[in-house]
Amino acid sequence: GELISLPDIEVSKLETVTTDSPKPLPSSSQLVFGRTFTDHMLTIPWSANKGWGAPKIQPYGPLSLPPSATVFHYAQELFEGLKAYRDESGRVTMFRPDMNMKRMNTSAKRVALPSFNGEAVIELLKELIRKDKHWIPDIPGYSLYIRPTLIGTQAALGVQPPDEALLFVICSPVGPYYPTGFKPIALYGTTEYSRAAPGGIGAYKLGANYAPGVVAQKEAAAKGYSQNLWLHGPEHHITEVGTMNTMIVLKQADGATELVTPPLDGMILPGVTRDSVLTLARGHASGEAPIEGLPSKLIVSERPITMKEVKEAGQNGRLVEFFGTGTAAVISPVDKIGYLGEDLHIPTGEDGMGPVSRPIWKHLVGIQSGSIEHPWSVTV
Ligand code: PMP
Repeated sequence: GELISLPDIEVSKLETVTTDSPKPLPSSSQLVFGRTFTDHMLTIPWSANKGWGAPKIQPYGPLSLPPSATVFHYAQELFEGLKAYRDESGRVTMFRPDMNMKRMNTSAKRVALPSFNGEAVIELLKELIRKDKHWIPDIPGYSLYIRPTLIGTQAALGVQPPDEALLFVICSPVGPYYPTGFKPIALYGTTEYSRAAPGGIGAYKLGANYAPGVVAQKEAAAKGYSQNLWLHGPEHHITEVGTMNTMIVLKQADGATELVTPPLDGMILPGVTRDSVLTLARGHASGEAPIEGLPSKLIVSERPITMKEVKEAGQNGRLVEFFGTGTAAVISPVDKIGYLGEDLHIPTGEDGMGPVSRPIWKHLVGIQSGSIEHPWSVTV
């Protein structure tokens, strides 16, 4: 262990500099995901010999970094994504920020960036959100997307743990992913590239996971599909939908409904929405916390699932639903998968959803928006 313990992040050391030129608030109808940023950002410097320095809330603006900074050369970068919501009474809440802090620390350890006290950062996120909360559009379904980021900033070309780093947080007002109801998406089953490998970095939210996905996404789009479905290995195991976790609903021979998602085998990002959907579904299945509208005989499985199984279920009329889960869209229903030159069609209801996704979506969004009381909702 370390002989000297260096300071962790301390909320009491926060300095705040308020912008003297606040930007005009955007009109909500013009919001494009992740293009508009609020007036302030949070920065927290770290160095190997001084530990975490004083957090600072300051006007949103460019960072100044040497071109030799390790982030530019070896992708020493990781990030998070979570949302803050404002309810009808004006109360602002974050959804399960502890999960994002936990994942951020897990990501940091994987790339030898410094870890930190997640609870302190949650308190600082609250301060930042309070400062810019008027940026959350006062319309149901709108929210503030929060992007905590950690980068290696040491001015050195050697590949090594950086001795300087910067944690920063920016915020972006966002609209609902589906402003006019759910629009199911078509997926292209990518067999040309893989997203992750055993022992690799698929389970961590590192920037390095995303740049190589852009080409696969672009090629799927060129073929007329809106996202790509990441498959793994010779049996084409289903892993993730673009930047979402995957959920598949199957009808079993005895009439039970099975909700299947691939297990956290080191190649799957442990999504907060994935965990939330599984927890709600399991609460219903056990009878402890029934959710109105969900099938009574529900089985929740974290298990490997291949394209072969999904295709056969489709042919036998046992494929009930296929959907992605993630912070941005919450639930994204899929109605078609292009796979090895054929299109596999997936049933969707008139509203775009299905018998499992619909009640779960309603419940989850109720918790997120504050209309259903739940400890996952953290008041800012
Ligand atoms: N998988 C990947 C690759 C992602 O980028 C995301 C978005 N963070 C998810 C899954 C969903 O995770 P979450 O529910 O935490 O947003």
